[in-house]
Amino acid sequence: MEKEFWLWLNPETFIWKNSDEVLVFNSGKGNGFLIPLSQVLSSLIERLINPEQMYCSDVRPVEVRDKLTGAFIDKVVKTGSGGICERVEGNPKPVVMFPKLNIQRSVERQSKISGSYRDDKIMLDLFEMTICFNGIGDKKRGGWNRQFIYPPVTNESLVSTILLKQLEAVSGSNGLRSVNLLASDFSGIESIIEIVDSLSRLNSTRTIWCRMADLKEQSAKVISRLCKGSFGLNIIVDPVADSEDSRRSVDDLICDFPEATWRFIISGESDYDMAAGIVEGLGSPVEALFVPLYTGGNLEFFIEHVFIRPADLLESGLTKREVFAHQAVNTFDFGKVSLMPDGRYYANLNHPPIGTLDESLKEVLHRELFSGKSWRRIRDEKPCTECLYRWLCPSPSGYELVIGRPDLCLIGEMMKPV
Ligand code: SF4
Repeated sequence: MEKEFWLWLNPETFIWKNSDEVLVFNSGKGNGFLIPLSQVLSSLIERLINPEQMYCSDVRPVEVRDKLTGAFIDKVVKTGSGGICERVEGNPKPVVMFPKLNIQRSVERQSKISGSYRDDKIMLDLFEMTICFNGIGDKKRGGWNRQFIYPPVTNESLVSTILLKQLEAVSGSNGLRSVNLLASDFSGIESIIEIVDSLSRLNSTRTIWCRMADLKEQSAKVISRLCKGSFGLNIIVDPVADSEDSRRSVDDLICDFPEATWRFIISGESDYDMAAGIVEGLGSPVEALFVPLYTGGNLEFFIEHVFIRPADLLESGLTKREVFAHQAVNTFDFGKVSLMPDGRYYANLNHPPIGTLDESLKEVLHRELFSGKSWRRIRDEKPCTECLYRWLCPSPSGYELVIGRPDLCLIGEMMKPV
């Protein structure tokens, strides 16, 4: 008589299949594999993922003889994603608790508990706050703040007296890990001393964001004082029009701001080459990041350098918690709000405001959590809904909204007719 087996998956292992392939991802090890499906393998996997089977299925002799099924079992065992043992009478079937998300349900449940979530817990969901005091007049750079932190085009300024009241509300928040202060002119911020004072009572990282072009005169003096008072500094360098000028500016500023992080905006390979050249040519090492800018005419650059490569997702190193997070919330936007010079709050600057400075911040956050468009924006549009990589893929970012397509990946590109 031919032997039969039990095949099981570990509680850390996720498995997704479509009509052609099966993807197994071991979140304990942070990697996975993809295998084409045969009819025989497909029916084994159907049984394996049936909740009543508790992540364990019998393997029948016909399945053992199937080449693809054999390769699948071999991979499951070799990658530590599960195990196999002989099915012997008297030995009980292994039982595994398969990974199942219930965060979503808990958010829905909380929304029904009127009052208590709104009043007590909502502030714990606020992780990061960006306060933008004033903006720039250069319309050519309008809308860049929909892609990354950057001053908006506006001549409005935030009314700091109302802001101070809001900061009092935030001061009781244990969740707030990070506060960003953004402006084109820091010397023009009224009540800056009181604001800084108020922020110093928070147990959060505090960071100044400004453009290199704005680091001059009185504004630079204010920033320098704040940096001495334990603020971090992010300096945004616009596309490097003249690399020699930029190199000199960076060189000069490094002496005054040695701890700064430099964020070079790049929209093409020549920007990258120039920015990388500046960084390499500096007398001392700096922390430098390259931030892609979509201009409307550089999709090829994005396809080449920014788009997701499915093969990379199989080696993404994601934990079980991170895979679940992708299923419930937008991991770029969740817990973050931006307060703009017009006194409006945004959860994502590509979406309408979620409230104003005149309202209670708790009300604003509550609105976003339960009926907003950003914090819970997951991959729930085609083609992502039909993609095996859906929950391994990073949450949709602002770039998807700016470019106007839900999938910034090479899968979409490969499917296009040549
Ligand atoms: S189709 Fe969507 S889910 Fe799939 S890899 Fe592309 S972006 Fe990610």
